[in-house]
Amino acid sequence: MSAVASIERDLRAAVTADVVAPTAEYQTDQTEARGLKGRAEAVALPRTADEVADVVAWCYEHGVPVVPRGGGTGYAGGAVPLEGGVVLSLERLDRVRSFDPLLWRIEVEAGLRTADLRRIAREGGLLFAPDPGAAEQSQIGGNIATNAGGPHAFKYGVTGTWVTGLEVVVPPGEVIRLGGPLRKDVAGYDLKHLLIGSEGTLGVITAAWLRLTPAPEAAWPVIGFFDGVRGGADAIGRVIGSGLPAAAIEYFDSETMRYAGTSFPGEVPDGAFGVLADADGSADEASRIRAELVDVFSEDALAIYAPESPREIAALWRWRDGLAVVVDAQRGGKASEDIAVPLDKLGEAIQESLEVGRRLGVPACSWGHAGDGNLHTSFLIAGDDEGEVALAPQLSEALFELALRLGGTISGEHGVGFVKRNWLAKQLGPRAFELHTAVKRAFDPENLLNPGKKA
Ligand SMILES: Cc1cc2nc3c(=O)[nH]c(=O)nc-3n(C[C@H](O)[C@H](O)[C@H](O)COP(=O)(O)OP(=O)(O)OC[C@H]3O[C@@H](n4cnc5c(N)ncnc54)[C@H](O)[C@@H]3O)c2cc1C
Repeated sequence: MSAVASIERDLRAAVTADVVAPTAEYQTDQTEARGLKGRAEAVALPRTADEVADVVAWCYEHGVPVVPRGGGTGYAGGAVPLEGGVVLSLERLDRVRSFDPLLWRIEVEAGLRTADLRRIAREGGLLFAPDPGAAEQSQIGGNIATNAGGPHAFKYGVTGTWVTGLEVVVPPGEVIRLGGPLRKDVAGYDLKHLLIGSEGTLGVITAAWLRLTPAPEAAWPVIGFFDGVRGGADAIGRVIGSGLPAAAIEYFDSETMRYAGTSFPGEVPDGAFGVLADADGSADEASRIRAELVDVFSEDALAIYAPESPREIAALWRWRDGLAVVVDAQRGGKASEDIAVPLDKLGEAIQESLEVGRRLGVPACSWGHAGDGNLHTSFLIAGDDEGEVALAPQLSEALFELALRLGGTISGEHGVGFVKRNWLAKQLGPRAFELHTAVKRAFDPENLLNPGKKA
């Protein structure tokens, strides 16, 4: 019997969780297009935190790597089982354990899909603010493990801002609880925030207590079109400098508008750079902010689109959510990163990132979360051209180098995963990296939890 079959067979015999042979979907995530593929020997599908603990304990006892998996929408290769072992998929831990709308809080299991969580909160008159793009597929556990952002992180913060408690399985297979239904907790080192964004390398998140907020009564987006990156960056600076509490500030360079312009629900001036700002709050407040945003944009906008009906507004956000897919479809492949830079460097970063594509002869476009200085510059590579696919690492590395040169970070929201692992030491410097490694050792001394990722 092969080692592969025996891991699957032995794990199945030892735990109560279902254990199945890995199908293709469990060997990849969104990095499949750049050739990342794992070789897991088994997939565990636990239904409870205790079953998760049993799987981790068995893996720890037998020296087998274990890779936590949420919805598989990650862009950093974090859920890809590159060193074999067991994929621990959280999809069956999807219950709402408690929901107290009057106390603005909810406790959910890690496998609940992000969009379902947002719907449940909304039905209680509340908002779960984080809005990462792949919400129908991603899970709250995956969002916490990557500390995911999204357009409205500008006003509301990233996922971790909303987590008040975690239930986590840590090596060698124990369930621990950090925080809870508490709005404040400063006891001890902040282990909860070490787990948030740890990309499955320190523990397996099985449930979370989340803070909610009353849903805004109205949300009205305004999109202005400007002349080039310079015009767009100036408009972004003016919105931020005006002190208007926009809920989101997004940008779309002229190439992005060229690829996605035909499905845009309004008129797009030729070659224009788009800036979208969202005005939310009570109906009065949203209306006031919207009018002021129109004023700020009017200074030098080529055109402004400010939809009013719920149908038009929904169409605009559907267009925004579909951007990544439209860009992916252009040439069948894409190398795209999520670097972030200080706000005053945003225009320069967009310009230089596009220049990388020109230098290496690959079409490029750029969009992202302008208010957070977070760029999604994408290089469109022909999926069937080996030469272009081989350029992907070089293109990504040029972006990481640019981010660090401008005082930014290699990841604003997708995480380090496998794709950026060689760059973390460069960003942190020797002593901070040594401390980072010591944290990993303290949680996972045998390096079996998602090995080869993050550091
Ligand atoms: C179209 C599209 C749009 C996107 N837009 C955004 C965006 O706006 N903002 C953003 O931040 N990201 C975005 N992403 C990236 C991705 O959706 C996020 O990183 C998301 O948080 C990943 O969640 P997931 O459940 O799919 O996790 P996975 O991809 O399955 O896993 C991601 C990482 O988390 C770990 N992990 C997963 N679940 C757990 C758990 N329960 N316990 C411990 N570790 C775990 C995995 O090991 C892996 O390292 C987008 C992706 C796509 C495809």
